[in-house]
Amino acid sequence: MIHIGCHLSVTNGYEAMGRQMLEFGGDTFSWFTRNPRGGKSKDVDPADVKALEELLSEKRFGKLVAHASYTMNLCSANPDTRANGLDMLKKDLEKMEYLPGQFYNFHPGSHTGQGAEVGIEQIADGLNKALWPEMQTTVLLETMAGKGSEVGRSFEELRKIIDLVDLKDKIGVCFDTCHTWDAGYDIAADLDGVLDQFDKIIGLSRLKAVHFNDSKNERGSGKDRHEKLGQGMIGMKAMKRFAMHPAFDGLPFILETPNDDEGYVQEIATVKGWFQA
Ligand code: FE
Ligand code: FE
Ligand code: ZN
Repeated sequence: MIHIGCHLSVTNGYEAMGRQMLEFGGDTFSWFTRNPRGGKSKDVDPADVKALEELLSEKRFGKLVAHASYTMNLCSANPDTRANGLDMLKKDLEKMEYLPGQFYNFHPGSHTGQGAEVGIEQIADGLNKALWPEMQTTVLLETMAGKGSEVGRSFEELRKIIDLVDLKDKIGVCFDTCHTWDAGYDIAADLDGVLDQFDKIIGLSRLKAVHFNDSKNERGSGKDRHEKLGQGMIGMKAMKRFAMHPAFDGLPFILETPNDDEGYVQEIATVKGWFQA
């Protein structure tokens, strides 16, 4: 059995997200650690975090998957953007320690014309400056669609980043089904083949979380446009096969599908239903 939930707004605090997810029928969730486009971050209220932690253990939630701001780019050609990205990463990871043992997912970055190899080195360099041995968060590199100059469009690129990181035990991968499909991996017709590649190149033990999205576009489009489960080009049969694959057992699955609250409630129920049949 997997854990299933969706992306939530942190506006009303941490405990409120846990309660909302229970109402939605799920047992994991994600949130933006700061404004996804502007980059501002709210202070943590320790009592609020403690209330969420109690709820998580009482209701047996899976791991949570915080999401970094989209503006955080560790491999921009602009040194100010890079420095700002590193500052965000450090502050986010310090804040994550209030909620120990969870996941922090980020888009590796966009090299903005420097080339993937330079991007990979700069991303690893940022991680080496931000991670520390005692931290209790696992940092996840998200598989990317390859839109623009995104780094992380292939398993090989993610592997190269990991190879350059010193504290490798702090690093995992978040598998975004829409992105991976848009990058060209056939998770519909050849899921076992894709997972075999993942295992050979990165290692399945690094697979820590899934962003569970259908895609509006053809495989290999390089676009990154999420779709509701079963309404995109991946399709419901393949999404179901994916969720039920033993490689993902126990992992948190986060819906980032274009839905309102009611839509998420329905998709969570659909996914849970696959495991009850
Ligand atoms: Fe993402
Ligand atoms: Fe994603
Ligand atoms: Zn996306």
